[in-house]
Amino acid sequence: MHAALLDLYALTRPELTALFARWEFSPVHVARLWNYLYWECADSLSAMPKLPAKVRRRLAAETRLGVLPTALETDSSDGFTRKYLLTLADRANIETVLMRFTGRVTACISSQVGCAMGCVFCATGQMGYTRHLTPGEIVAQAMHVQRTLRPHRQRLRNVVLMGMGEPLHNYEAVMQAVDILRDTNGLALGAERITLSTVGVVPGILRLAREKRPVHLAVSLHAATQAARAALVPVAQKWPLDELIGACRTYSQTTGRRIFYEWALIEGKNDSAADARAVGRLLHGLPAQVNLIPLNPTAGYAGVPSRSEAAKRFQHILAEEFKLPSTVRQRRGLDIAAGCGQLAVR
Ligand code: SAH
Ligand code: SF4
Repeated sequence: MHAALLDLYALTRPELTALFARWEFSPVHVARLWNYLYWECADSLSAMPKLPAKVRRRLAAETRLGVLPTALETDSSDGFTRKYLLTLADRANIETVLMRFTGRVTACISSQVGCAMGCVFCATGQMGYTRHLTPGEIVAQAMHVQRTLRPHRQRLRNVVLMGMGEPLHNYEAVMQAVDILRDTNGLALGAERITLSTVGVVPGILRLAREKRPVHLAVSLHAATQAARAALVPVAQKWPLDELIGACRTYSQTTGRRIFYEWALIEGKNDSAADARAVGRLLHGLPAQVNLIPLNPTAGYAGVPSRSEAAKRFQHILAEEFKLPSTVRQRRGLDIAAGCGQLAVR
C-alpha cells in the first residue's frame, strides 16, 4: 500500500465531487463511489463493479482506500465490548472499541498513536506520543466497525472520540473526519451522535465554539482545584483550571450546548463529599452533566477505583445540593483492557 497516495477515506463528499470534476467524470460516479464507501462498506475497488472501468483505473492509479487490517480482535466475556487492534500503513497499531451498552452500537475511536498529555492514570498517556492520525485513519476506524455490523443488519449509531489520543491536539484531522462521518449520504452520524472528549485543550475548545461544529463535548475534569488537577493531568499547568472553565462557559454560551464533565473516581483521592461539593461549586451556573468513571486499572498507576457507596454519595450530593445531573459509567470491557484509559499498544 502506498501511503503517499490520496486516501479516499480522507475526502469529504464536496472534495470528492471536485476531484471527479477535475478528472471530468460524471457526478453520478461520485454518488456511486460514496455509496460503495459508506453504505456498502466496500473494502476495495474490485468490490465496486458499478463504477466504469476507466473510473476505477484512475482511482487505482491515484488513490488508495485506507482500510485498516485487523491485527487482533478480542471480545469481553460479557459480550458487550469488542476491541480491535488495527494496523496502520506505517505498521503502527491503534485500538478501536465497539460497545453495545444500551442496545445501540457505539464505536470508541482513536485520534492519535499514543498521547502527549501524560495523564498519570491513563495507559495511553503512559505510552507517550508517537503521531497524529490522519483524517482517513480516523474515518477508517468507524468504517471498520460498520463493516463488521453490516452482515447483522445493524448500524453504527454513535461515535465517541475517546480512544487513544487527545482529539483537540489533532484538531484539523479530527474535524475533517467528523465532517465525513456526519455526511447525510454516508454514515450520517448527526449532531447527537458524535462526542468528542478533551483533556482540556483551551484553544481547541474555543475554536470548536467559534466553528459551531455539531458535536457533543466532554471535558475531562477529575479534580476541582488547580493543584489537585495538575497532579493528575500535567497539561493543566499549560491550561489552568480557571481558563478551562472560562472556555467551557464560552463554549456553552456560544453553542447553547451542555458539556459533559468526566471524573475518574479514584478512592481516597477525589471521591469525598468535599470533592463532590467542590465540583458542584465549580460548575455552578454552567449547563453540565457529570460522568463519573470509577478508575480502571493501568500498569503505571497505583490508584484504585472508588467503592460504589462513594460513587453514590458523590452523585447524591451533586443532585441534591447542586441540581447537577450525573451518571456513573458502567464498567465494561475491563477483562480485555478496553475500558476508559486502558488503551495502549506495546
Ligand atoms: N484524551 C481525551 C479522550 C480519551 S480518554 C481525554 O482525556 O478526554 C477518555 C476518558 O477516559 C477521559 O475522560 C479520561 O480522563 C478517562 N480515563 C483515562 N484513564 C482512565 C482510567 N484509568 N480510568 C478511568 N478513566 C480514565
Ligand atoms: Fe491523553 Fe486523554 Fe489519556 Fe490524558 S486521558 S493521556 S489526554 S488519552
